[in-house]
Amino acid sequence: MGNVTIVGSINMDMVTSTAVFPKQGETIKGERFVTMPGGKGANQAVAAARLGASVRMIGRVGDDPFGKILTDGLANEGVNVSNVEPVTDCSSGIASIILSDQDNRIIITPGANDEVTVDYINQFEQVLAESDVVLLQLEIPLDAVERTLVICQKHRTKVILNPAPAYPLPDTVLSMADYITPNETEYELLFKDSNEYQEKIILTEGEAGVSWHEAGKQKRVAGHSVQLVDTTGAGDTFNGALAASLSNGESLEESIVFANAAAALSVQSLGAQSGMPTREEVQEHLS
Ligand code: ADP
Repeated sequence: MGNVTIVGSINMDMVTSTAVFPKQGETIKGERFVTMPGGKGANQAVAAARLGASVRMIGRVGDDPFGKILTDGLANEGVNVSNVEPVTDCSSGIASIILSDQDNRIIITPGANDEVTVDYINQFEQVLAESDVVLLQLEIPLDAVERTLVICQKHRTKVILNPAPAYPLPDTVLSMADYITPNETEYELLFKDSNEYQEKIILTEGEAGVSWHEAGKQKRVAGHSVQLVDTTGAGDTFNGALAASLSNGESLEESIVFANAAAALSVQSLGAQSGMPTREEVQEHLS
């Protein structure tokens, strides 16, 4: 298997379920509380590791108890965490999520993820140079994303940019990525008015599957019909799987077919990381 390096966020998701939301100034009683490891970077690392890739995470956690839990969790999934360094006097990234049947409200506090700086990235030039595929998202500072792309371009390392959560990106960033993997909302925001990056874009379309352009032709794979439980982490599974497969030398089309199947399997269970499939499960589903 090839080696994949993820440069990205590591969060603890803290989820409170409630029947109703509190009004301003009001305190109410919740129904359930769970903590779940998350962050797009960490989720994609777990997805790629379960699928058999040799995965290294470059990121940061706080010096709080969550930092240790999150780092140990990644290591238990087989992810190399030697480049996940705790930040002193800083919280880990936290997503405070309030869920009701009708709605959800989320506050993400980046904490240590904001300390993935250009200087921090510069330490790992060798790691990036030796990777088969590098996978990036947008939950760390943009200048660190850009620096990673510059280093990868210098060493001809392939980069997948998952532009999530989306915000307007400079052409320097978009032009250095080999593949860009928006969902439909992210695509609308970033690419609606331009064909410029058409040949790099792999558009995920939820249950409809995936479409992309290759050698001037539009291609598409249909979504798999599965028992839908929770789509959280579908995109993360897709990206981790795409990176794992490309790093293994599979063609772009083979990798998209594989990632589309892996992501479909992931929506059959609750939570982002818990439902991510193994390589055997994807191969069995595809056969
Ligand atoms: P995100 O999770 O980032 O919003 P999508 O909703 O486009 O991204 O989902 C990513 C991929 O996950 C899809 O391209 C598809 O392969 C798979 N997927 C998502 N939802 C479903 C579904 N209901 N049924 C089957 N596959 C799904």
